[in-house]
This record gives sequence, C-alpha cells and structure tokens, in this order.
Amino acid sequence: MSEQFDVVIVGGGPAGLTAAVYARRMGKTVLVLEKEAIGGQIAQSPRVDNFPGLPGISGTELADRLYDQAEGFGARVELEEVLEIRDGAVKTVATDYGEYSAKAVILATGMRHRSLNLEGESRISGVSFCAVCDGAFYAGRDVAVCGGGNAALQEALFLADLCRHVTVIHRRGEFRGDAILVDALRKRSNVTLALHTAVDALESREDVLTGLRLRNLETGAAEWLPVDGFFEAVGHQPELRLAKMLRLTDGDGLLSAGEDCLTALPGIFAAGDCREKTVRQLTTACADGAVAALAACRYCDRI
Ligand code: NAP
Repeated sequence: MSEQFDVVIVGGGPAGLTAAVYARRMGKTVLVLEKEAIGGQIAQSPRVDNFPGLPGISGTELADRLYDQAEGFGARVELEEVLEIRDGAVKTVATDYGEYSAKAVILATGMRHRSLNLEGESRISGVSFCAVCDGAFYAGRDVAVCGGGNAALQEALFLADLCRHVTVIHRRGEFRGDAILVDALRKRSNVTLALHTAVDALESREDVLTGLRLRNLETGAAEWLPVDGFFEAVGHQPELRLAKMLRLTDGDGLLSAGEDCLTALPGIFAAGDCREKTVRQLTTACADGAVAALAACRYCDRI
C-alpha cells in the first residue's frame, strides 16, 4: 500500500517549496520530492539581488530558508527521483525508493543547464557548470566563463573575488544580462570581456584543462587562452521528462498551463521555470508555486 498525500510536489526549488508552504497552510498533507539539491538552480546563484525584501542574499541561504519554511509548516521533503507519474482519479508517483499516491500533483521540475557540447566536456577536469560549487578549486588561478546572461555575469563576479583573472566569453557584442552586472564587471581590474567570441575547443593535458581555443566571430581570428577552469553558463532548458511521459508537452516541447497553473490533465499542475512563460525569474517561480498550490488545494476539496 503506497503512502497517501493530498499534494505531491515534484521539484524542491523555489516554485516547489513555495507551493509546499501554501498547501500546508491550507491544511493539506504535502510531500516534496527532489532528485538532486534542495533549492534547484537558485542554490547555485552566488548572490541574489532582485528578490523583494532580501537583497544580497546568497542562493544557498535562500534555498536553506525556503526548505526550513516548508518543513516548518509540516511538509515532508524527500531526496528521491521521480521515475514515473501514473494519471488517474488518484495519481501514483513512482520514485527510485517507492510509490506514493496523491490527489493532486504539482510539476515544479525547473530547468537543466544547457551545454556547449564541446569535445571532452564531461571527461576533462576543469570544466564546470556551477561557480558556487566549484569556484573555490580555482582560487588564485585563471578562469573563463562563457555566456552573456545573468547567470554568466553573476558567476563571473563571484569568480573575480576568488580568482587571479576571469575572462568572460560571449558570442555577441552586447550582454543579455542586467546592465548593473555588466557595469560591475567592467570595474573589476582582473576581468576581461571577450565579446564576439566563440569557444571552439577545450585543450587539455592528461584530461586536465589547460586552455581554450577561441575564435573571434567578426574577424575569424583564432586565439589560445590558457585557463585552469572553464565555467559554462549558456542558459537552461525546461526539465520536461515527466511532462513528456504524461503527454503534456506540445510539439515544441513546451509545458502549457493556464493562469491557475492547471495542465491539460485534471489534478496535474505546472509551476515555475518548467512551465511555458516569457519571464523566468525567482519571483515568477514563487508566484507560480503559490497559484498552483491554491488551485491544487481547491481540486483536492472537489474530488
Ligand atoms: P540566458 O539569460 O538564457 O542567457 C544565456 C546566455 O548564453 C546568452 O547570453 C546566450 O547568448 C548564451 N548562449 C546560449 N547558447 C549559446 C551557445 N551555444 N554558445 C554560446 N553562447 C550561448 O540564461 P541564464 O543566464 O542562465 O539565465 C536564465 C534566466 O534566469 C534568465 O531569465 C535570467 O535573468 C535569470 N537569472 C537571473 C539572475 C538574477 O537576476 N540574479 C541570475 C541568474 C539567472 P545570446 O545572448 O547571444 O543569446
């Protein structure tokens, strides 16, 4: 007999944990299932300056606080990977540890990082997707960050405090990320901005990174940049494996849900960055979590 919950939330990032707080406050039994790290992407953010009321908080601290808040309200949080969700009047959520049943399920599966797919990327030591996790290994050394969004700019600022030199490599002449972060980087004496530049290859010796082969996209000129660490921050893609299993994504691979976060399947809601939307921010993820939870609670009361 599987354990029963009113609401099972898949994903322990800001959307999922906010949903847990709201559903618990409505008196529902709540289980949050997270496969990797509590906090999701935000736990990897060195510094969060745009979350209302908490300027300058680190992503790890924010993740810890969200977790404490959800648990404090009585949500159960487990580190288990959801392998399958079977739809029905009551939903079955199968994980790598067992099975749970739920009246309503909230998919808050977030995003996974995009990669440059360079040869040797997963084998060569020195390539990372998270400056907060791995930056300390490169203290006092030379590193490069690839990407032009807020994640890349934040990572570069974080690394500039630790490393001897940081090169930010971006394929265009303008950054996609916030001007305030670009200005902060321009003021750092140990940061170089390599614009109109692509990374063509990783160079290594005995599978340890020694540098990058770069190409100027305006002139075609090739350049060799010696670095000890290389951080890829070229964006994210919605994590839709479960949504695809439930046939909830359209041909473009987007997970659509209404204003109430309800998907095409009754009792299955989508919240946060995994949902089709134009603005993916911490604030919009939390907002989705609240909306999805309240809609899921109403659904539980009706069935
Ligand atoms: P993003 O905003 O989508 O930026 C991805 C960057 O990677 C872009 O500059 C893009 O270049 C570049 N890129 C993509 N594919 C590439 C490739 N194959 N080769 C080279 N460059 C490539 O992603 P993100 O920075 O991860 O941010 C995701 C969302 O989270 C955004 O909404 C962002 O605002 C938010 N975020 C916010 C904060 C904050 O406010 N504190 C921090 C982190 C993230 P192009 O610009 O040329 O397309």
